[in-house]
Amino acid sequence: MERNGAMTLTLWGVRGSIPTPQAEKLGFGGNTACLEVRYDGHPALILDAGSGARRLGALLKKECAGEELEVSILFTHFHWDHIQGLPFFAPLYDRRTSLTFYSSCEPARLREIVEGQMTAPYFPVNMPAVQATCRYAKVEPEGMPWGDLHIRPFPLRHPDGATGYRIEGPSGSIVYASDHEHGDSRHDAILREHAAGADLLIYDAMYDAAEYAFRRGWGHSTWEEGVRAAIDAGVKRLVLFHHEPDHDDRMVKEMVDRASARFENTIGAKEGWSVTV
Ligand SMILES: [Zn+2]
Ligand SMILES: [Zn+2]
Repeated sequence: MERNGAMTLTLWGVRGSIPTPQAEKLGFGGNTACLEVRYDGHPALILDAGSGARRLGALLKKECAGEELEVSILFTHFHWDHIQGLPFFAPLYDRRTSLTFYSSCEPARLREIVEGQMTAPYFPVNMPAVQATCRYAKVEPEGMPWGDLHIRPFPLRHPDGATGYRIEGPSGSIVYASDHEHGDSRHDAILREHAAGADLLIYDAMYDAAEYAFRRGWGHSTWEEGVRAAIDAGVKRLVLFHHEPDHDDRMVKEMVDRASARFENTIGAKEGWSVTV
C-alpha cells in the first residue's frame, strides 16, 4: 500500500551489458537496466531504458487505456545496455504520449545520441518519425525538482562517463549508482556523500573482488565495495545491481549471501521486485 508521499520503485531490468535469456539466469532476471519510480500519481519516471523498458512500455500503454500518457526517461549514460529497450518502448509510437528525456548532456547532444540509435541501418524507424512528442532536457549539476521529489545527479567513474542520481522524496530517498568503478578517491567520496542516509542504494556489483582483479578499468565494481559504500554512507538497504551476464542465479545468490553476512540489509536486484520508500 502506498504511503502518503512515498515513492514506489520497480525493477524492470537488472542485468549488465547484454540480456541473458537463459533459464538459469531468469531467477534474478535477463533484461538490462531499467527502473521505474512512481510517486503520488505523477507521470512515470524511468531510469535507463535497457531491454527491461519493453515490458514497462507495454504496461504503461495498457494503464493509460488510450488516454494521454506522460513519461520521463532519465539516462545514466548511453552504453547499449541502458538504451537498447527504447526502440521497443511502445509509448514512443503513440501520438498521445509526451516523453521527456533527461541526462547530464546538453539537450541538443542528448537528442543526437537518442536519435543516433534509431537510424538506418541499425533500426527501421527513425526517431523523428515516431508519433510521441519528445523533449530533451539536461539535469543541471545542482539537480532539479520533479513534482515533490528532488533529483540530484552525481558523476560516476565509468568509460565515457556515467551519472548517478539521488531521488529524494518527502518520505524516503533512492540512490541509483550503476555503472561505477570504485578505487578513485574523489569519485568514491562523491558516491558516499550522495548516498548518505539513503533508504536504498542501488549499486554496481557486477563482480566479486577476485573477478575484479582481471577487470580493472572496465568501469564496474564489486559486492565487497558495495558493502563498504553502504556502511560508510549509512544507507538502510543495499541493492546489488548490474549482474554480470555470465553469472547464473546460483552465483548471484552466493554474492548476495556473502554481502548479507557483512551488511545484513542487502538484496540482489531482481526483475519485477518492487519496494515503497
Ligand atoms: Zn551497464
Ligand atoms: Zn556502462
